[in-house]
Amino acid sequence: MAEAGDILAGLGQEKNRQFDEFARLIEEENKIHNLTRIVGPEQIRLRHFEDSLAVLDELQKLAAGKGLRLVDIGSGAGLPGLAIAIARPDWNVTSVDATGKKVRFQERVIAELGLANARAIQGRAEELGRDPGFREKFDAATARAVGDLAILAELTLPLVKVGGRILAWKGPGVEGELAAGSKVAAALGGGDIAELPYQLTVEGQPVSYRILSIEKSRPCPSRYPRLYKDIRKDTVSRRAR
Ligand code: SAH
Repeated sequence: MAEAGDILAGLGQEKNRQFDEFARLIEEENKIHNLTRIVGPEQIRLRHFEDSLAVLDELQKLAAGKGLRLVDIGSGAGLPGLAIAIARPDWNVTSVDATGKKVRFQERVIAELGLANARAIQGRAEELGRDPGFREKFDAATARAVGDLAILAELTLPLVKVGGRILAWKGPGVEGELAAGSKVAAALGGGDIAELPYQLTVEGQPVSYRILSIEKSRPCPSRYPRLYKDIRKDTVSRRAR
């Protein structure tokens, strides 16, 4: 069971210094643009960073001693993408969000922390999935708190190579999304859907997230219907930048 600081504490001084700076930048940005309701360095470390790093073991299995190319979809303030990039400088992280101000914040984090292995891209995932430069180019995709399972499958599966995985942080209501979600996933090359062991406790109380792991077992068909509808009204199109 992950307790406060379990994974972070094992990462050593330099990375912890980077996480402290990341937390400071989030708090500073939060005063101007609303990024998160979670405030205070300890809460940010636990509920954002520790939570983001809960998938490191699973990603390590996928990397299997080689490098890992990861795409994080709907990354917001850079979570979990930039947190993973700090923890694993040997992995390559592409962090995608549709909203310009969030991407600009991430670019600042990348520059100030000197994250040579990370890039932030403003774009809509459903468009990147049809772009040959991004389509089926990643070993894994992460998405935390992004849409329901059907939408999430459509936003992520086209980007991942066969044999790769989608890791999705879901709320307790995920049961109700499974039937429709697995149908869409299967249509886009998705295979088995497993749940990762995950238990984060905050002040002794379990956090009720669940992390699903969806296999990409077959190539995505070259044509597929567009199911995606806007998750949030405030997102902007890449063309409207
Ligand atoms: N993953 C972050 C943010 C979750 S909020 C966290 O866990 O804190 C969902 C984010 O998805 C928002 O920042 C929104 O701008 C982004 N988003 C919504 N639709 C998107 C799309 N089609 N493509 C890329 N990003 C999208």
